[in-house]
Amino acid sequence: MKTIYFDNNATTKVAEEVLEEMQPYFCELYGNPSSMHTFGGQIGRKIRLAREQVAELLACDPSEIIFTSGGTESNNAAIKGALAAVPNKRKVITTRVEHPAVLAACRDLENHGYTVVELGVDRQGRLDLAELEAEVDEDTVIVSIMYANNETGVVFPVERIAEIVKAKGVTFHTDAVQVIGKVPLNLSESNIDLLSLSSHKLHGPKGVGVLYVRKGTRLSPFMLGGHQEGGRRAGTENIPGIVGLGKACELVAKNIKQEGEKVKHLRDKLETAILRSCEGARLNGDKQSRLPNTSNISFEYIEGEAILLLLDRYGICASSGSACTSGSLEPSHVLRAMGVPFTAAHGSIRFSLSRYNTEQEIDYTIEKLPQIVNQLRELSPFVAR
Ligand code: PLP
Repeated sequence: MKTIYFDNNATTKVAEEVLEEMQPYFCELYGNPSSMHTFGGQIGRKIRLAREQVAELLACDPSEIIFTSGGTESNNAAIKGALAAVPNKRKVITTRVEHPAVLAACRDLENHGYTVVELGVDRQGRLDLAELEAEVDEDTVIVSIMYANNETGVVFPVERIAEIVKAKGVTFHTDAVQVIGKVPLNLSESNIDLLSLSSHKLHGPKGVGVLYVRKGTRLSPFMLGGHQEGGRRAGTENIPGIVGLGKACELVAKNIKQEGEKVKHLRDKLETAILRSCEGARLNGDKQSRLPNTSNISFEYIEGEAILLLLDRYGICASSGSACTSGSLEPSHVLRAMGVPFTAAHGSIRFSLSRYNTEQEIDYTIEKLPQIVNQLRELSPFVAR
């Protein structure tokens, strides 16, 4: 059975071109770029190229790129590094809908004497910017707000947020893991100070990412040891990963506009058909300000996990908004923050597409999903018949 992969916000396929570029750096060009000999030294040039490829995609200076192990590390490093650089202030502002890589890091700070403010969102998943502005005060060190939500695809007005935060002289970090590769960004015209990126969300390898640090941003080093990454992030570089990430960024930079349009067309076709043909189906999140690849749909009175299992029988991979915690199915913290009713949050499915999806895959899913929903509705004890 062929796999139809609609779980690209979880991770993406490594592009063939990326794999090809990485291959020599395992068994042939395996030297350490910190070595004195030519064999190792030549690797340094490849790291420089990858740094330039990332910088080109983000429209920033290569010196502002720090390679990390991925989005989780970049988020932790940004928040904790900014706090360590300004030890006399104690307040952090974030939102209730962040990825756990930000939320858990911030909540842990509360155990260390920091005040953490989590801004709420409305029913569409939107922030109240006046509330944000009022919260940023003298004691605030950093505001960390994601660019786009991994579950709903809702895109926050991050450039406007960065402006508000900058006007107060506070550092602004954005978790841009879900937006890079899907929507073009231009950091040369932005007030963002710190930005996290993860390679495996843009058809690069897993275990590598970037923390962008705008020149002049106060940030303490977050991994001590050798002199790698300008002394900010010590440790022998993940060369194949960095080379792959560079290539993945180059591919994105070349094709982002056409690919974005293609993916949006497929997503819209899938979404429109589902909303039309499945009774009790409802879109979650701001329709106007959304990633082109993501659709989060609730099917009232049906368990999301049951839909996923039946989709899986047809080789269709998606994901649900629930997380299985200690045996009980908890609806996602994002949908709960949006005030999505329990019965709908429980039956939510996220479809996240990529450049590799096809029209045929969409047609096949549009054919199968209504059958699955009807089948489960028949079994649901909550549906009046
Ligand atoms: N931030 C967001 C918004 C994400 O979606 C993810 C991964 O799902 C991460 C951070 C974590 O990135 P990584 O898997 O590279 O650690």
